[in-house]
Amino acid sequence: MTVLDALPSVEHAAVLDESSKREIRRAILTAIAVPGYQVPFGSREMPVARGWGSGGLQLTLAIVGPDDVVKVYDQGEDGGVNAANLRRLIRRSEGVETTTDPRQATVIQTRHRVPEDELRADQTLVLQVPVPEPLRGVERDMNELRRMHAEGDYSKMWVSLYEDLVRNGVITETTGYPCLVGGRYVIATTPIPRWDVPPLHQAAFLSLFSAGREKRIYAIPPYTDVEPLTFEDVPFEVEKVSARCRCGLVVPDGDLQSYQVEIPQQDGSSVWACSDTDWCTRQRVEAGLLDPSAITETEVDL
Ligand SMILES: [Zn+2]
Repeated sequence: MTVLDALPSVEHAAVLDESSKREIRRAILTAIAVPGYQVPFGSREMPVARGWGSGGLQLTLAIVGPDDVVKVYDQGEDGGVNAANLRRLIRRSEGVETTTDPRQATVIQTRHRVPEDELRADQTLVLQVPVPEPLRGVERDMNELRRMHAEGDYSKMWVSLYEDLVRNGVITETTGYPCLVGGRYVIATTPIPRWDVPPLHQAAFLSLFSAGREKRIYAIPPYTDVEPLTFEDVPFEVEKVSARCRCGLVVPDGDLQSYQVEIPQQDGSSVWACSDTDWCTRQRVEAGLLDPSAITETEVDL
């Protein structure tokens, strides 16, 4: 008999032990109680490299229960290798169901996007964060950063935004736009485009941000103000839908809009497409442009 044979046969090999999950849940509760405050947590080694969603993964593993349905997507795509790997890992570790449809999911783990669908109060958005410190670009000293957050002294951030505006005519910050949460703490909104910032304001759902490498968790509780930092006479603007998705449904200034990404083609040209692939597919099915039976299943075990 080998050591492996002696181990109790378990259906799911949990990636994170129960006491680690409890510690993460305690950090989450603190984060919800103090919106926007970065709560330190003992980030564990995960079977994915730090920087590849290890923070989001730990958070999702800590909050899911047997009845949860999990969606993991990356850059708006469910089929990406990183998203598919994380989804499979969560499914095997916790025995939960997974989906690509955000309407069916109770926990949605993401990097780079918030689903185009309006999320509900019974859903939790888990965002993978590479750099949780919004002031990193203007201050390197950790003690000084702590003081700035504690005193709500965001003057260096304002100066940096002003310099950007003077130099470039517009605020060039595109992803991870700094926002004031609940009128108190400035947060980095992960690498989501500006397009995804307005849905976080007074949202019905809970947003949890987790950075595995930097060991920080922060939260936007439901119905909390999320204000992008901008000047009174310089309104915050989302990216313009200037292109037409290859689905043909998203038209600039039309009723149906979604965040567009440029996809380079082999001949050097490029086409534009909806970044949220699941949303785009459903729109095409609804418009009768796509036969639902022709959709390739992305829920495969790689
Ligand atoms: Zn589309």
